[in-house]
Amino acid sequence: MLGDNIFLKIIEKKIPARIIHEDEHCVAFHDINPQAPVHVLIVPRKVIPTHADIKAEDCELLGHLHLVAAQLAEKLGINDGYRLVLNCKERAGQTVPHLHLHLLGGRNFTWPPG
Ligand code: AMP
Repeated sequence: MLGDNIFLKIIEKKIPARIIHEDEHCVAFHDINPQAPVHVLIVPRKVIPTHADIKAEDCELLGHLHLVAAQLAEKLGINDGYRLVLNCKERAGQTVPHLHLHLLGGRNFTWPPG
């Protein structure tokens, strides 16, 4: 259901998270199950269930998420190399139906991803 997911509860401060950035468009916090020494989730306040649901009106918001990712990579000391991941739908590993960017760093990454 739109408007009822764990990230919305974090955004609304109904459940705790290690928030490291907040602005009018998004909230960023450390992933509870980190896959790298640095693993941060950058989540728009607007509920967009999946990447497949983005609309032209969301372009500026998506650009903003990337700008915040680059700023956080610098702040967290991982801008020597980092990976951004956006899982779209269950087949790609999406578990929370609220679009989000994973910012991962602090180790080497392989390609292709799993
Ligand atoms: P995805 O699988 O792309 O939908 O990513 C969801 C991510 O949210 C996973 O990496 C989870 O570890 C993370 N996650 C789930 N619940 C929480 C939570 N309460 N606080 C922080 N991260 C969470």
